[in-house]
Amino acid sequence: MGTPGGTSPEVEPDTGRRIVAGLAKIAMAIRHAQWAASGRRGLTPTQSQILGIVAGSRAPLGVKAVAAHLAVTMGTASEAVATLVNKGLLRKGADKADGRAVALRLTPRGRRKAASQWPEAVMGAADAMPEPERAMLLRGLVGMVRSMQARGMVPTSRMCVECRYFRPNEYPGKPRLHHCLYIDGPIGDADLRIDCAEMEPAAAPGRDRLWEVFVNGQPLDGQGPGRTRPRAGTWRSRREVHTSPKGAGS
Ligand code: SF4
Repeated sequence: MGTPGGTSPEVEPDTGRRIVAGLAKIAMAIRHAQWAASGRRGLTPTQSQILGIVAGSRAPLGVKAVAAHLAVTMGTASEAVATLVNKGLLRKGADKADGRAVALRLTPRGRRKAASQWPEAVMGAADAMPEPERAMLLRGLVGMVRSMQARGMVPTSRMCVECRYFRPNEYPGKPRLHHCLYIDGPIGDADLRIDCAEMEPAAAPGRDRLWEVFVNGQPLDGQGPGRTRPRAGTWRSRREVHTSPKGAGS
């Protein structure tokens, strides 16, 4: 597609730089707002993020997993976790699956704090965007995170596009064109998760196919992760937790 000046957006060399410049401004606003709020909340941004990570995880997490999620050293994560335990926002218990491991859990106060980890002003700016633009931006961000993840630049995320429950483009032309087998319901681009507590990674070959058909706008047609639904019987509660604004994950 050409433009009046004859330049083609497909070969615009500067777009990537401007996207990164825009993201840098948003990151700066988030950092400033988090530091400004840290006095009021009595938490550093790292401590706030740890509460969010623990709240968003279905499986119990230890300090090592928290450090990996945040891409910080074990020392930094241990120190922040110790502070949160002292503040009565986190508690350490035994991991039921591995009696020798330590699992971090939120206290009721910690859960309330975790629900407000992102600055309201920045959230407001995101919410103010028209729905189609929000969906498009989220879709683009998913692609960027996935690409950076493949280069080892960000920790592995729990995203729809790599989840065995994700069925892309099952309902072509519909606003909610994808399907999540976990809730057994349709989801749109605006519902895509970047950090979903219920995500279970698809096996490697199926995962690549998942991304390919997501981008190309086709359904899987049986060539991807199997259609295995999670155990039946709790569909309603799953759907409620998953779609609640207080539900786990982003
Ligand atoms: S919403 Fe969660 S469980 Fe459903 S497809 Fe996305 S990552 Fe998987």
